[in-house]
Amino acid sequence: TTDAPPTPPRIFRSKLPDIDIPNHLPLHTYCFEKLPSVSDKPCLIVGSTGKSYTYGETHLTCRRVAAGLHRLGIRKGDVIMILLQNSAEFVFSFMGASMIGAVSTTANPFYTSQEIHKQVRSSGAKLIVTHSHYVDKLRNLDGETKIGEDLAVITTEAPTPENCLPFSALLLADDDEITNSLDAVDVVGGDDAAALPFSSGTTGLPKGVVLTHKSLITSVAQQVDGDNPNLYLKSNDVVLCVLPLFHIYSLNSVLLNSIRSGATVLLMHKFEIGALLDLIQRHKVTVAALVPPLVIALAKNPTVNSYDLSSVRLVLSGAAPLGKDLEDSLRSRLPQAVLGQGYGMTEAGPVLSMSLGFAKEPTPSKSGSCGTVVRNAELKVVHLETRLSLGYNQPGEICIRGQQIMKEYLNDPEATSATIDEEGWLHTGDIGYVDEDDEIFIVDRLKEVIKFKGFQVPPAELEALLINHHSIADAAVVPQRDEVAGEVPVAFVVRSNGNVITEEDIKEYIAKQVVFYKRLHKVFFVPSIPKSPSGKILRKDLKAKLC
Ligand code: ATP
Ligand code: MG
Repeated sequence: TTDAPPTPPRIFRSKLPDIDIPNHLPLHTYCFEKLPSVSDKPCLIVGSTGKSYTYGETHLTCRRVAAGLHRLGIRKGDVIMILLQNSAEFVFSFMGASMIGAVSTTANPFYTSQEIHKQVRSSGAKLIVTHSHYVDKLRNLDGETKIGEDLAVITTEAPTPENCLPFSALLLADDDEITNSLDAVDVVGGDDAAALPFSSGTTGLPKGVVLTHKSLITSVAQQVDGDNPNLYLKSNDVVLCVLPLFHIYSLNSVLLNSIRSGATVLLMHKFEIGALLDLIQRHKVTVAALVPPLVIALAKNPTVNSYDLSSVRLVLSGAAPLGKDLEDSLRSRLPQAVLGQGYGMTEAGPVLSMSLGFAKEPTPSKSGSCGTVVRNAELKVVHLETRLSLGYNQPGEICIRGQQIMKEYLNDPEATSATIDEEGWLHTGDIGYVDEDDEIFIVDRLKEVIKFKGFQVPPAELEALLINHHSIADAAVVPQRDEVAGEVPVAFVVRSNGNVITEEDIKEYIAKQVVFYKRLHKVFFVPSIPKSPSGKILRKDLKAKLC
């Protein structure tokens, strides 16, 4: 018998041509490259106060902070933790750290003491920038670490808690000191780490991800650079930054993309629908980066109709599956805007694909699609068992290769080699397919697919159907153990105001639309669906309710 020659992998690429990406630069140099031409334009607007900072002011403050961090002994390769809500100080700290070759690890300020401690320890952070009212959580992190001695803590509000330093202590350097301390820094860039974000912890514990200057520049360039950028941002755009910057989606696709493009970033420190709509109207937001829970709010909340949202020209959704119908209902509320998705994963730098509807010369993308793979990258879909790469319309595990992907997981070579193979392919753990127009559709996560006997039930598909029902405000589907079938799909449903829809109604509504093995076995009514700050359904919390 003769072995058939191995089939060459089917590799999908962007329709946009590759471009030269200056990813040898340090990240801050790359992001602020257009500074001379935008210096007087607003870079940051703080939503809650209306205070704004021009590009010139922002850049200078970042340099001050760089010198201030240097004065406190932070050096190239050292890690600082940014434990902040979206704020100007977040931006100054991140960029300031980059300027001296320090690495920012970002964490959710709502974390408990224990969660923060874990991340401080695993990242080796020497300094934390946080809000004054969170400092109590930092005291006695482990009974040993002493604030002001082993760990410097910088706080952003007065009064400054004991043993902490006010943020203004980072801003004392004059021009000479700034120049001297920045000159003293060894060359930064390329394979040096710039950011240490953590994954969302949807499927397990959050994983520390090492992103280098090279990977972040590559990712930003793949989105906003070139004659025909995949995501065309203009310097007169006002970009909504409501998603938390401590996740890489917002940090990269909102903040870094906007700064690179000279656009204005409107910072909102927390999501609240009224304030959000008001800010969009007041500041004439043109670009909104969202996650599905916010899309649900905009598509379903009746208050939306009393605001003028006509300035919005582009809406990007990412981080979790967005069904076709939900996308269509938001479209009917924002008819003037281009709507589309991006698909990201912390480890992938993070953007794998994005709608070409956002390009300077746009190609419309279909509802429900995550767009096409970004330029300067390769994507393949592999069969779950044979690992052979698949052609159009065949679902399998999505893999991505390119200079944007992470260098490694933090302190975990085993997990790294289980995720990035010898040929440089990053295995995402997501199941999806590519259609004949090269558009990517995510079916679900490998880990979340429900297995009814031998059949696969993707919860995201059932959730999309549920949310499309006018009496349902929100929904999540999880597996329940079953002696006969192994697992069966059950739903948690939030009724929309005043509706009395019953379990039987819902089961029947689904049964009419799906093959037998995808039918719901139970429906539980709940007041809300637990979601992570990055917009993901916390299925593990719901599963825990079933035991
Ligand atoms: P963890 O890896 O810690 O369990 P996580 O995977 O949720 O958490 P992130 O890196 O924030 O952490 O999220 C990446 C995942 O989000 C992707 O692997 C994918 O499952 C999902 N995702 C991102 N964008 C989309 C999208 N447009 N449609 C569907 N799923 C998406
Ligand atoms: Mg993940």
